[in-house]
Amino acid sequence: MYVSRMFLPTQREVPSEAEIASHQLMLRAGLMRKVASGIYAFLPLGYRAFRKVERIVREEMDRAGAQELIMPAVLPAETYMESGRWSVFGPEMFRLKDRGGREFCLGPTHEEPFTETVRNEIHSYRGLPLTLYQIQHKYRDEKRPRFGVMRSREFVMKDAYSFDRDEAGLDVSYQAMYRAYRRVFDRCSLDYIVVDADSGAMGGSGSQEFMVKSDVGEAVVAFCDACGYAANDEKATAVPAPEAKTGVLLPAERVATPNVKTVEDLMKFFGTTSKKFAKTLVYRTDDGRLVAAMVRGDRELNETKFHNLVGATELELASPEDVERVTGAAVGFAGPVGLKERIELYADLEVAEMENFVVGANDTDQHLKNVNVGRDFVPTKVADLRTVEAGDACPVCGRPLGQCRGIEVGHIFKLGTKYSKILHCNYLDEAGAENAMVMGCYGIGVNRTLAAVIEQHHDANGIVWPLAVAPYHVTVVPVMASDAAQMAMAKDIHYRLEEAGIDVLLDDRDERPGVKFKDADLLGIPLRVTVGRKYADGIVEYKERTAEKPTEMTPGEAVDKAVAAVREALRA
Ligand code: ATP
Ligand code: MG
Repeated sequence: MYVSRMFLPTQREVPSEAEIASHQLMLRAGLMRKVASGIYAFLPLGYRAFRKVERIVREEMDRAGAQELIMPAVLPAETYMESGRWSVFGPEMFRLKDRGGREFCLGPTHEEPFTETVRNEIHSYRGLPLTLYQIQHKYRDEKRPRFGVMRSREFVMKDAYSFDRDEAGLDVSYQAMYRAYRRVFDRCSLDYIVVDADSGAMGGSGSQEFMVKSDVGEAVVAFCDACGYAANDEKATAVPAPEAKTGVLLPAERVATPNVKTVEDLMKFFGTTSKKFAKTLVYRTDDGRLVAAMVRGDRELNETKFHNLVGATELELASPEDVERVTGAAVGFAGPVGLKERIELYADLEVAEMENFVVGANDTDQHLKNVNVGRDFVPTKVADLRTVEAGDACPVCGRPLGQCRGIEVGHIFKLGTKYSKILHCNYLDEAGAENAMVMGCYGIGVNRTLAAVIEQHHDANGIVWPLAVAPYHVTVVPVMASDAAQMAMAKDIHYRLEEAGIDVLLDDRDERPGVKFKDADLLGIPLRVTVGRKYADGIVEYKERTAEKPTEMTPGEAVDKAVAAVREALRA
C-alpha cells in the first residue's frame, strides 16, 4: 500500500478528551474517530488491526471446536422477557419499537437467543455437546462510557455458548475455552492474569476473568505470588485477622458522642484504633427489604459479596428516611442493638471475632461501647463481607496478597442451568428422561483487547505493535521520494515483501525523512526499511520499531530478514 493514497488522518496534538495512552494514540494515529459518546468508527488502519485481533479470536475458537454463526443484533423483547432480563438490564439496554409498536432491543449479550435456538433444534443427547459462537456488535448504554473503545456503548464481542449434558461435560467445554482464551491473549502479546470472578447472585458454578495488567484498568485484582491465587476484588477473600482477645466481657455502656460521626472522629473520641469499632450499613433491596451489614471500622464492605448473600437482584444504600425509620436516629448512628424494626443483619467474619467494641446506639449522638456478639445481639448470619486489601493473608497459603489493576478483556462463565431452566432448553438422555442442558458462556471484547494491546505496547513516540496484530508489518521509506532511482529500489522492496505475503507500506510521500520516520513511529509499524544515501552502493537500513539504531544490509537481506521475522511472529 502506498502511503500517499491512504486514508490516514493523523494528529500531532494529544486530543483533549482522551485520558489514557491507548485512547490518545488511537485518535492520533488515525485508527478511529468518535461519532457520538461511546460510539466510534474504525478507520482503515484501525480496522486492519481490529481484524487481526478478530482473526486470532476466530482461529482459536475454531481450533477449540466452537462453530461460528451470526445472530441478529436487533432482538424481540419477548426473548428477554422470558428470561426476566428485559427488566434486569434496566437503562443499560438500548430499546426500540418497530412501526407496529412491537418492542425490540439491541442485543447487550446473547444468552437468550442462543439458548432459544438450541432449544428449538436440539432435543436429544446425541446433539450434545455443542459450542456456538459469534463475533458481533453489542450495545450497552453504559453509564460512563470512557477511554475510547475500552468502555464504549457499541462494541464488538466474541460471545460463545456451550451446551452439555451435565457438569462434567461443562467442565470439558469450559476448559477448552480457557485454553483458547490463553492462546488468544498470548498471541496478542498481552501480559495478563486469570482471576476468579464473582458468578453473581443468580447461580453459576464458577467464573474467571482475563485481566490485562494496567494502571488504567477499572478492575482491582488481588493475587498471591507464592501460590498463584488470583481473584478480582468482588470475589477475593483473605484469612480473617482478628485482634487478640482478653476473654473478659465488659458491661455494655451508652456514651454520648455529640458530633462524632466518622471513624476518624470515633478514634479520636475513644482514643483507640478503628479495629475497635464496627460499622453498620443499611441497604435496600429491589424487592423492598431493608438489610444491614457490619464490618470492622478499618474494613470496607464488599457490596458484591453482600449482594450475593442477601440474594437480591439490586441493592443500594438505604435513603436517609429509611435509615432514620429503622434506627430511630440520624444517619451515622446505626448499630446492631435496639433497632426499631427487625431487619436482616449480616456480620463480617472479623466482626464475629471482636470483643468489647463500639457501635452506633441507634440514637442520635449516642454510641454503645463494650458491645459483644452473642451477648448483645445475634446476627442473622456471619459471613465474609469485606473487601480484601494488599497485605492481607492469602486464603490458600497465608502469605501476603498483592494488588494490581487490570483491564478485563475476557470472561468465561459456568452458567449451569440458569438459562436452560427458565427457557426450557432440555434434552432427552439415553433413558428417555428430560434434563436441562448445562451451559457456559464466554466473552471477549475485541475492541477492548485491541486497546489493551496499545496500552501495554507503546512508548513516547507512539504505538509499538506486536507483529501479530500490527496493521502493517513493514514500512519502506525512501528518503528522497523525488529521486527516481531511490524510489525504484523502494518500490522493488515493497513489491518483494508484498509477494511474500507481508503487509507492507511504501511511504512514497514527498516529505522530509524526519516526518516519515515520526509517522512510522506514531503508527507503530514494527519494521522499517529505509532506502537512503547508500542506496547506490546497494545498501539499505533495517530497523525494528524499538531498536536504537538501524542496521545496514542489502535490499535482499532486508527482505529476507523482515519475512523471517513476520513468519516467526505469526507462527501460531
Ligand atoms: P465490565 O465489568 O468491564 O463492564 P462486563 O462484566 O459487563 O464488563 P461481560 O458482560 O462479561 O462484561 O462481557 C464480556 C467482555 O466484553 C468483557 O470481558 C469485555 O472485554 C467486553 N466488554 C464489556 N463491556 C464493554 C464495553 N462497554 N466496551 C467494550 N468492551 C466491553
Ligand atoms: Mg459491564
